[in-house]
Amino acid sequence: MGRVSGKVAIVTGGGGGLGLAQCRLLIEEGATVVMTDVSDSTAVANQIGAHFLLQDVSKELDWQRVMDYVQSEFGQLDILVNNAGIALFADIENTSLEQWQLIQNVNSTGTFLGCRSAVEAMKEGGGSIINISSVAAMIGMSSYAAYCASKGATRALSKVVAVHCQEKGYNIRCNSIHPGAINTQMAANALVEAGIEERDSAITAIGEPEDVAYMVLYLASDESKFVSGSEMLVDSAMVAS
Ligand code: NAD
Repeated sequence: MGRVSGKVAIVTGGGGGLGLAQCRLLIEEGATVVMTDVSDSTAVANQIGAHFLLQDVSKELDWQRVMDYVQSEFGQLDILVNNAGIALFADIENTSLEQWQLIQNVNSTGTFLGCRSAVEAMKEGGGSIINISSVAAMIGMSSYAAYCASKGATRALSKVVAVHCQEKGYNIRCNSIHPGAINTQMAANALVEAGIEERDSAITAIGEPEDVAYMVLYLASDESKFVSGSEMLVDSAMVAS
């Protein structure tokens, strides 16, 4: 019996990086997983036994299509991981309005649309919404102005959703996860952009996608039934220091 046996999950941005590790672990622990991504990831989804749908998380109609699919195929949704995200290496003086809006659209609006859709789908049967924020929501990373702001919005929205569901008597939990530097394409790009070739004092440790996936698994499972409105750091003491 897996830790999430019988549960149906959506993981956005599941085609690579953190999302792929989450899909793999949730499947290993018994969940049915619908992987979505803006890039066609059918091949990797087939390899790990996930269902795949193309989705741009910033598009309302795409969310409607994904939720309709899940309801018609499985008749329930228990877990949503709002994982899809993009980064932008630019400080406040060098961020155009278009760049700002793109980052907010994917990271912040995408998470809003996901939370709203999931609350609708889960309010009868309950469920767990997990929003992948970042340490960037908690510290001023000056080279990532728009990204920090978008992850701050995700952090705050997670608490709003958690409290709303409690007030309404829905059995829906909502939490945010705040990874530090994790070994994915996004982090590799960030190191290059920052001119960091090897680990130095600016980055105390680099984690693996599985480090975040295990936190997702905990929040997705009933083991965390009393955990809602929380912010979970997976950063090897980056924020603490
Ligand atoms: P990644 O770039 O490796 O993977 C992101 C995935 O999201 C890709 O498969 C991409 O195609 C998909 N995606 C991008 N835009 C999308 C859209 N509009 N709709 C649907 N899918 C889209 O990045 P990652 O490192 O795996 O990051 C995953 C999440 O974790 C992001 O929200 C990111 O901000 C967050 N995060 C990452 C790190 C890190 O160090 N890697 C640290 C903190 C937070």
